[in-house]
Amino acid sequence: MYVRFALDAELLFSADLTPEAVEAVGALVEESNRTLFRKGVPQGAGEDEIGRIVSWSATGPLVMLSIESGPYTRAHDGLFRFRKQIAPTLGRFRVGLRDIVVKSFRITIIGDYPKDVHIPKLPFITRSCLLGDTLELELNMTAADLENRIPDRVVRLVEEKIQACTYGGKTEHWELVFESGPKPRFFEGDPTEEMIKRNWVRHALSRGQWIHAPQSVQLFRAFEQVVVEQIIKPMGFAEMIFPKLVPWEVWKKSGHAKGVYPEIYYVCTPKTRDPAYWEDVGDYFKVTGEVPVEMIREKIDGPIGGLCYAQCPSFWPFLQGETLANDCLPIRIFDRSGTSHRYESGGIHGIERVDEFHRIEILWLGTAEQTVETADRLHEAYRHVFEDLLELEWRAARVTPWFMAQEGMIETETESSCGCGSRIGTTDYEAFLPYNKSWLEFQNVIINGDKYPTGFNVKIQSGVDCWSGCSGIGLERWTAAFLAQKGLDIEKWPETVAKLVGEPKELFRFL
Ligand code: ATP
Ligand code: ZN
Ligand code: MG
Repeated sequence: MYVRFALDAELLFSADLTPEAVEAVGALVEESNRTLFRKGVPQGAGEDEIGRIVSWSATGPLVMLSIESGPYTRAHDGLFRFRKQIAPTLGRFRVGLRDIVVKSFRITIIGDYPKDVHIPKLPFITRSCLLGDTLELELNMTAADLENRIPDRVVRLVEEKIQACTYGGKTEHWELVFESGPKPRFFEGDPTEEMIKRNWVRHALSRGQWIHAPQSVQLFRAFEQVVVEQIIKPMGFAEMIFPKLVPWEVWKKSGHAKGVYPEIYYVCTPKTRDPAYWEDVGDYFKVTGEVPVEMIREKIDGPIGGLCYAQCPSFWPFLQGETLANDCLPIRIFDRSGTSHRYESGGIHGIERVDEFHRIEILWLGTAEQTVETADRLHEAYRHVFEDLLELEWRAARVTPWFMAQEGMIETETESSCGCGSRIGTTDYEAFLPYNKSWLEFQNVIINGDKYPTGFNVKIQSGVDCWSGCSGIGLERWTAAFLAQKGLDIEKWPETVAKLVGEPKELFRFL
């Protein structure tokens, strides 16, 4: 992939330039091309790869510049280097820089474009033309956009689109790390169907949403207790409450804003809480028995964000901008304060793939070593739980998003003396579902490296990188996996679980 940038910009000064001032501008252009734009450029870079002012002119209070570049001292970087020097240069003639107007900005990206590559469409891309191996983009940019490095991000985005297309079919690289082998099975059916038959659950009125009756909740709470006794207490995790309405500000910093949109349950606020403003909506319902969704759409703002998708992002504003004392680390906490919501579309199935679910999220942070050590202890504790207490047929696998696997990013992303860098990534825990002979992810353990501390600007006193990890324990998924293998008859269940659940409460009798 090879990139070129070209821009035309107008520099507006506080007064007409005198002939002497124009001469000084000319001298600065010379100096820019000769030395200023060459600073920091690697040895051996080709002449036309380096930023260069290819033409300029001055009329009245205006200086027009055309800058072209390859990858080094990109046209926009050149513009700002020039700006830094022009201020003192023309200050001597008592004129100051008032404004920069970007007249045009073009990016040319030469690369290997797959047939169905998605070229980004963005409001400020005014023209885009892909011919063979050459993509030409015209951008409508302000000087602030250029300072914000939007052109560089556009180039990176095109690169991403090419990769997404090249490896599109494969979403992740999957590598088995543990397999339990066969365990006693007492059931062949779909556990949700059996739960419905016995009134343990019933469909709620929203999509992918269930009402759990006492029998189902007894199982949830039993599993929760297993987690508390086997993991949370012995490893010293402390309970916190993380918010469940997530504003964009959080997802911008956690990175979810890059792509979570198809699965969000969006949250909007009323334009006003004045009852008079809403009167006609209520009236419409009173008269028709229908809720006027279109009318409501006109009366709400936002969306301001969405409902909880992953639990841990909402914790991080607690630490935002802070430096953590060495002696409080590692921090070990968890949240079980509310539901998570995902729009699973056609994927919903039974209680195990739903739009509203219940999860315990375990979260830990500290140095790289502390973070990896906690993950290792968790893996061990989980193994004991699934092997000896739940007696599940399960396996664990390292999963790596394809683009990371491809670029070996996992190894190189963060340098650390302990070799912890190679541990960044996700381990999925999967259970076998006899009824459809497939594996269901029922929880995971993730070592996030410095992603969250960087996103939320969290530091450690000693100056080493702060790392974090998290583990999402899905109660619906544990229940579905357990019942799919062990069935709904409590006599067949492993003793620990049977004891914790107790006798299933039959509250309702239907006529
Ligand atoms: P899947 O590939 O099955 O959709 P995921 O990779 O989207 O899972 P994560 O984002 O890793 O899941 O979420 C962590 C945990 O949250 C999962 O292991 C699971 O226990 C739970 N979970 C996620 N999505 C759902 C859902 N739709 N219904 C029930 N539990 C879920
Ligand atoms: Zn998490
Ligand atoms: Mg999913």
